[in-house]
Amino acid sequence: MLIRDLLAFKSRNKIIHITPDRSLRAAAREMVTHNIGALLVTNDMGELVGVISERDLVRALTLFDVGLVEIPVSEVMTRSVITCGLDESASDVLKVMNKHRIRHIPVMGPKGLAGVISLRELDRAYRHLQSQSLTDELTGLSNRRHFLQHLQQEIGSHQRYGNPFSVAMIDIDHFKKVNDTYGHAAGDQVLVALSDLLGRSLRLIDVAGRLGGEEFAILFPNTDIQEANKACGRLLDEIRNRDMETDAGTIRITVSIGLTASFCNVSGPEEILKQADTLLYEAKSAGRDRIITEQADGQDLEVDRGISNAAKSLN
Ligand code: GH3
Ligand code: MG
Ligand code: MG
Repeated sequence: MLIRDLLAFKSRNKIIHITPDRSLRAAAREMVTHNIGALLVTNDMGELVGVISERDLVRALTLFDVGLVEIPVSEVMTRSVITCGLDESASDVLKVMNKHRIRHIPVMGPKGLAGVISLRELDRAYRHLQSQSLTDELTGLSNRRHFLQHLQQEIGSHQRYGNPFSVAMIDIDHFKKVNDTYGHAAGDQVLVALSDLLGRSLRLIDVAGRLGGEEFAILFPNTDIQEANKACGRLLDEIRNRDMETDAGTIRITVSIGLTASFCNVSGPEEILKQADTLLYEAKSAGRDRIITEQADGQDLEVDRGISNAAKSLN
């Protein structure tokens, strides 16, 4: 993440200046008014000559006995200002700030001052961007990247302790038809409704992710394939019987599922997803609204749940 991304993320990026001849009282008032912890001190030409922070004000309290508030900013401000550029990485700037124990850093752009970043903002933005980069915006589920991270962890645990785990890949049947019939916005509402259903139906330890489009995946930690198969069977029933309320009316959908497990001896998360995807493809070819589960001996077990009337009406 670059400093320019952080500045763009800030809801407010007004640069509050003060000139060195102004009083500490004026500086304190500016800080309170704008609810900020530091001010940039600029000369008449607009050039940065220092920074004055709350900490400088507190330090001044110990240095000057009387008439403190009328002392000019220039007496108290920090003159050797460390700045950073728009294209520096946020983590490098964070290191510099920690090393020099500074809480505010002016950002210099091609046309001079571009903003100020505080440690708190840096931290908050970091956490926000991090959670954004792991979450699917529409549904709030883990995105593909985050799901793969969970899967990688589970593979590690499986390799160390031998815990079984299972992975299901889920794809909505004829979703294009849902969009064509009810509109894209209703399609989005169906995706959200399905995510809610997954969130409510699964155990706390299970991880649901949206891999993209109308494709979801579930990681069942500590679960052998028979147990996962039962859970997926229940899901299939629940989904096909669920009235999904959208602005364009009530919609019913069905899904197809490819279910695989840790015994398949695959090396990485991508391979496991690929395996589940192959089984999902088989479930589609076999008529949809069903699970194809890989068996330990390599033979596929097809679990046909039948096709509901509601789903037929979309076919
Ligand atoms: P199949 O049963 O074979 O999976 O058929 P399908 O129509 O579901 O599959 P296809 O891959 O032909 O079409 C997927 C559709 O999903 C097309 C695309 O418009 C829709 N889609 C993908 N992402 C989104 C989304 O975020 N919102 C909405 N509303 N639709 C989406
Ligand atoms: Mg589909
Ligand atoms: Mg698809």
